[in-house]
Amino acid sequence: MTQHNLQDDHSSTPGDGGFGQDGGCLNISAVEALLTDEPAAELFARADRVRHEAVGDEVQIRGIIEFSNICRNDCFYCGIRRGNASTRRYRMSEDEAVAAATRAAALGYKTVVLQSGEDMYFDSGRMSRIIERIKRLDIAVTLGLGEREYSDYKAFKDAGADRYLLRIETTDQDLYRSLHPGMDWQHRHECLMMIKELGYELGSGFMVGLPGQSTASIAGDLLYLKDIGVDMAGIGPFIPHPGTPLRDAAGGTLEMSMRAMAAMRLLLPDINIPATTAMETLHPEGRMKALQAGANVIMLNVTGTVYGGLYDLYPGKEKPGSKPEDSRKRIEAAICSIGRAVGQGPGGHKRK
Ligand code: SAH
Repeated sequence: MTQHNLQDDHSSTPGDGGFGQDGGCLNISAVEALLTDEPAAELFARADRVRHEAVGDEVQIRGIIEFSNICRNDCFYCGIRRGNASTRRYRMSEDEAVAAATRAAALGYKTVVLQSGEDMYFDSGRMSRIIERIKRLDIAVTLGLGEREYSDYKAFKDAGADRYLLRIETTDQDLYRSLHPGMDWQHRHECLMMIKELGYELGSGFMVGLPGQSTASIAGDLLYLKDIGVDMAGIGPFIPHPGTPLRDAAGGTLEMSMRAMAAMRLLLPDINIPATTAMETLHPEGRMKALQAGANVIMLNVTGTVYGGLYDLYPGKEKPGSKPEDSRKRIEAAICSIGRAVGQGPGGHKRK
């Protein structure tokens, strides 16, 4: 299965990096070759073909509701880190979160993603109520609330949540330690295992271009996601935020992020892979390019104008004044213009 899709046609190019018919050479250096040696246009075209064969031409559109930017963590790269005193903090009420989901459903969204900082105000009771109310709209619910206790993950699942996103951020444990004061890589990994065990569709991913991150380390991230068997992988460039310790860092490039994303498609042909917002920030057509290089999902912000822009992970994340109803129409037109269709269902991971 894997070896077939890694070699989507019968020609073996040098860029295959040793992925032969036996598929037995999935090592770091073979994946690294995809990131560094294969001409980008060829890699992207190959990932696009594999995407077409494995998940078809539909693009799944999700609506993201960023319901709180209050966070107990202090991640060095993140604009809503606890230590950034210049961020204006907000927290939606339960009714506001449900209202945002209701608006999204009315606009045609079949999945909403509830994302927040690690805001413990939203305990299992509050969160479960929100999830139960949104599930009455008959749409899929994805959560991205960070690291929680097993009992919380279980309560959210019991309340009806379908999927959970928790990026591992990097699998380089020294790098992880240097960026996440007071956090523990092993614990994050264990959270991913709990989420999987509870039967959620599991989304993870990482950033590209973190300070000191090597291509071997990115290759390790890709193999990790393959190893744990993610259903969805979000990969995007790190973009330095002026209110963080990494304000002067170089940040990731669109090309390396797209290479990593394309390589992910070759490694896991049938999963959901978003064209990430951070890619769009680096290039006005970033998401459309990504959709033609392996991606099959787009996540649009449906938070609404009151809080829109305050979930300030990195600069340029939000286009000023973009309204949920307009952005969906624009994206639908753009999807059609590249010969693709808009997914009409919940768009979960369909295993091949
Ligand atoms: N608290 C939740 C949500 C975090 S925000 C959680 O822990 O999952 C979602 C993602 O944004 C993060 O996982 C991180 O990969 C990404 N992110 C944060 N800051 C960023 C930056 N400066 N540039 C690019 N991506 C960033």
